[in-house]
Amino acid sequence: MKKELIKLIRLYNNNEEEIKKIEMAYDYAEHAHEGMYRDSGEPYITHPVAVAVMLIERHADADTICAALLHDTLEDTKATKEEIADLFGSEVAKLVDGVTKITNFNNKTSDNRATKRKLITSINADVRIIIIKLLDRLHNMKTLSYKSLESQKRNAMETLEIYTHIANYLGEYEIKEQLEDLCLSFLKRDEYLKIKEELERIKLDSTGSLKEMYDTITYILTSNDIPCEIKYRVKNIYDIYQKVSKGGKIIDIHNLLALRIILNRSLECYMAMGLIHQQYHPLTGLFKDYICSPKKNGYKSIHTTVFGPNETLVQARIRTKEMDLINNYGLSSFWFTKGNEASSEMQSTLMREFQFIKSLSEIDHECLDDIEFERQIKKDLFSGNIYVCTPNGEVIELPIESNSIDFAYHIHTDLGNKIIRAIVNGEEISIFTPLKDNDIVKIITDENSLGPHIGWINKVHTITAKRKIKEFGK
Ligand code: MN
Repeated sequence: MKKELIKLIRLYNNNEEEIKKIEMAYDYAEHAHEGMYRDSGEPYITHPVAVAVMLIERHADADTICAALLHDTLEDTKATKEEIADLFGSEVAKLVDGVTKITNFNNKTSDNRATKRKLITSINADVRIIIIKLLDRLHNMKTLSYKSLESQKRNAMETLEIYTHIANYLGEYEIKEQLEDLCLSFLKRDEYLKIKEELERIKLDSTGSLKEMYDTITYILTSNDIPCEIKYRVKNIYDIYQKVSKGGKIIDIHNLLALRIILNRSLECYMAMGLIHQQYHPLTGLFKDYICSPKKNGYKSIHTTVFGPNETLVQARIRTKEMDLINNYGLSSFWFTKGNEASSEMQSTLMREFQFIKSLSEIDHECLDDIEFERQIKKDLFSGNIYVCTPNGEVIELPIESNSIDFAYHIHTDLGNKIIRAIVNGEEISIFTPLKDNDIVKIITDENSLGPHIGWINKVHTITAKRKIKEFGK
């Protein structure tokens, strides 16, 4: 097993010193877990190795791979943080310790809350801790069928409650979609199998149409000097389940089938879109330009749904290679693209560009008890977002239910402190009215305004607005 692992690493890393360290971590973990077995009957070491392999697929750095191999040694064996630091350095020790601190949930609600809090706040320390933890969870979910039914349900619920949201938040769609489907398969076995079966049938039925489109688009693009790579993509079962459980039919989901069209340059994405629209009529109203306005987790792509052959609706997702990596792997894609700087770039990007992370330490600081912390996190991270615009078209992302006061404070403290009215899409609305997707919001201020009323704290949604109103009142 060790040999195969090293072989995989050598595909992208031939630094002998690092490879030696990884081999050492392997030996250490194997020795530490000796005599321990998974519920599947396999030796325990297969689990950390599986986690390490998924990281190797992401071209992770040596420290992260060592940490993955060692990630259960602190909790389950006699190993200590000091010893790991001595042998593998302080970075590896920090990662292993971070993963260990996020112990698995248990039944006690209060512990559960504290654990969630640790899980979320550890993103701040080093995002690699969370990435290891997500992959750890993924492997545990993949091998969950060996556990009792009760434990399957409990684990699946915990996973849906928090891990999938974090994966989504970090742009780790690969992990998110696999986790969601696994959870559904444990929680709603019958529905899962029904959708899976129908999906297979639809896939089979549309193979001809998709192949035709694949060939046509390849031909059109290459004859216009746009080299492309095209991949098929089917919506994940959990997403379909979400739609179907609201009363929809599978066949009516407009982005059930998609082609991922991968190009070299972002300008080519727009050219490709034009060429595709000339060939296949687009369905109006479903066009999205996430290249101009990326999602907050870094997702960039053009989405357009077109009428393919035989009345098949097919979504075209047009992006460059680099975007495609980010879209599948989120921040982990930095391991592919940023070389030695990857891990520090990951962390700095996270702190700089992920709005939620910026407010995370604020939430952690403001909310003294775990219940309040959980409520605020749910609002900011789990409840979904709306995208609204400033009058000059800058897209602002806010949690659902946010109003013009949240919007104003998001942009600038002064704007929030002096807000008196809000014009949304050309019409005046109450500053307390929740905003909707695509609203264009203009804030009217007054220099002589007395400032926010302290009671507004209960009317705003974001932690930033709450804090700023509180500060103003002091
Ligand atoms: Mn583990």
